[in-house]
Amino acid sequence: MSETNTRDVSTMLQAKLRCVTPPSEKQLAQFKEFLSRRYHTASAADVNLTLETDPSVGGGFILSVGSDEFDWSTRGRERQFEDQIDGARQRASGHADQEKIMSVMQAAVEEFHLTAKASEVGTVETVGDGIVTISGLDHVQYGEIVLFDNGVKGMIQDIKSDGVGAILFDQEGTIGEGSHVTGTGKQAGMPVSDAYLGRVVDALGNPIDGGESIKTSEYRPIENAAPGIIDRQPVTVPMQTGILAIDSMFPIGRGQRELIIGDRQTGKTAIATDTILNQKDKNCICIYVAIGQKSSTIAGIVNTLKAHEAMDYTVVVASTASDPAPLQYVAPYSATALAEYFMYKGKDVLIVYDDLSKHAVAYRALSLLLGRSPGREAYPGDVFYLHSRLLERCARLSEELGGGSITALPIIETQDGDVSAYIPTNVISITDGQIFLEQDLFFEGQRPAVNVGLSVSRVGGAAQTKAMKKAAGSLRIDLAQYREMQVFTQFSSDLDEATKNQLAQGAVLMELLKQPLEAPMSVSDQVISLLVAENKKMIHVPVKEVKDYQRDLLAFYADQHPEIAGEINKSGRLSEALIESVLTAADEFASIQEKARA
Ligand code: ATP
Ligand code: MG
Repeated sequence: MSETNTRDVSTMLQAKLRCVTPPSEKQLAQFKEFLSRRYHTASAADVNLTLETDPSVGGGFILSVGSDEFDWSTRGRERQFEDQIDGARQRASGHADQEKIMSVMQAAVEEFHLTAKASEVGTVETVGDGIVTISGLDHVQYGEIVLFDNGVKGMIQDIKSDGVGAILFDQEGTIGEGSHVTGTGKQAGMPVSDAYLGRVVDALGNPIDGGESIKTSEYRPIENAAPGIIDRQPVTVPMQTGILAIDSMFPIGRGQRELIIGDRQTGKTAIATDTILNQKDKNCICIYVAIGQKSSTIAGIVNTLKAHEAMDYTVVVASTASDPAPLQYVAPYSATALAEYFMYKGKDVLIVYDDLSKHAVAYRALSLLLGRSPGREAYPGDVFYLHSRLLERCARLSEELGGGSITALPIIETQDGDVSAYIPTNVISITDGQIFLEQDLFFEGQRPAVNVGLSVSRVGGAAQTKAMKKAAGSLRIDLAQYREMQVFTQFSSDLDEATKNQLAQGAVLMELLKQPLEAPMSVSDQVISLLVAENKKMIHVPVKEVKDYQRDLLAFYADQHPEIAGEINKSGRLSEALIESVLTAADEFASIQEKARA
């Protein structure tokens, strides 16, 4: 039933009233009066109110004008009450004592006023590949969570003059053209708590390891502003990777962001996982974020971590290659929210993003689906901001804020060793240095395949222990000279003694830097190995036997001179006397070896 006057209906305010029992004439006039005031029509006669009978409304009504909806249905009123209670429950969760919780809940019930609140209802225009375009949601914000009528949640990711675009956090299900969407006024958040340690979760924090559900105490927004300058302090505490080639030449400090970059299958993940293994008993929480990886690869990593009891202090946040692009896109942000939870509690956190190349690809996919214009290599214009706002959240906090830190090891995969491609150069410019892994070295058997010339650590030097700094001394320069000389001398057969010595020494050092998987070295072992080798006390060892010699040497120190390692670990310094005793012990070991051979 509709009401028409002599005037043109199409110029009037169109409204629809859904209810079970039609309202009386008086009530109808009141509705029109209300709408006329609300939407500023000249008079109540300018409102064209259509009535529709809808049993699902229950007692009450739903009044809709354009995309606005005034919900006074049974379900709508229930929902208002539930929201009120939910809010109170969240407020109460901070309190420990039962009485306080009860009073908060009590107040929530008493203060509850039922109102026919206006909410905006949008309509789905298109849906596909985890992306939805919506019309009619005129008052949502960027990053706001929206709710579809089948219960699926999404996040607003694009705002245009003629509609908004959202990414879905779940399979599309029954969402189709014409489905209804409402805004929630909330930003996307990640549940956080200590209970996450030891678990494997998806990009939204839901467990996917088959274990019980995770008890969470708090929510943190997945997008969060990075700490400001005043909130930070310089990097001075080392983050030991346990990998000799890195700790000696490219030291990483807590709060630093060190990029691991290299072609496919060059041992990038291995460096990150070995670093996690090395954090055992070092009071550091680790988060491994897998982005767009195969489920089998992730399972392999989880198994390695479990086998070394590293899951006790580790969380794995996984978005696999089969997850929709939006989930792969949010995974590093939500993992960082979890890291921030620990950091603001004063803890040290190590976070590995494996890898950001796939993250950029996922973002490119969803940007193109949202209809953004493609730029260089088809990435959208804001792809730099994608990674800078993520990595800037890693910091070492000031003492006033608890002194916690997030150290990041982002990983980037290059094509054919090309570090000057778009995404690699972006991330290189954001991070505080990079470990460059080279395919040729890897295939030669030089593993970890760290390219000494192209790798750098820009802030870690301040965090390196004095002992390591002294022991590593001229290692970088020696290796650089060795590689240069190798190239020049490969054609000539008659070399002078000094050159031969330098080549032999270089070969020993290169061999020394080889390190098997899952075998992190302690600081004292690293310092002793380097001191002995740098003082040319291994130069007589045939290259093939260097690793065995090193192993026996370290066993000898641990057995016969445990005080040396104790002193290095305790003081973190190398006094002249200590160096002297290290070298004397090395001679001692050499003569034992000599005798055994004779
Ligand atoms: P992808 O590009 O597939 O992610 P990746 O660069 O992460 O590869 P990894 O998966 O870490 O490389 O390593 C590739 C292979 O090399 C693995 O089989 C691993 O066992 C081996 N590997 C890595 N580092 C070492 C090492 N130091 N010693 C011996 N083998 C190693
Ligand atoms: Mg890998």
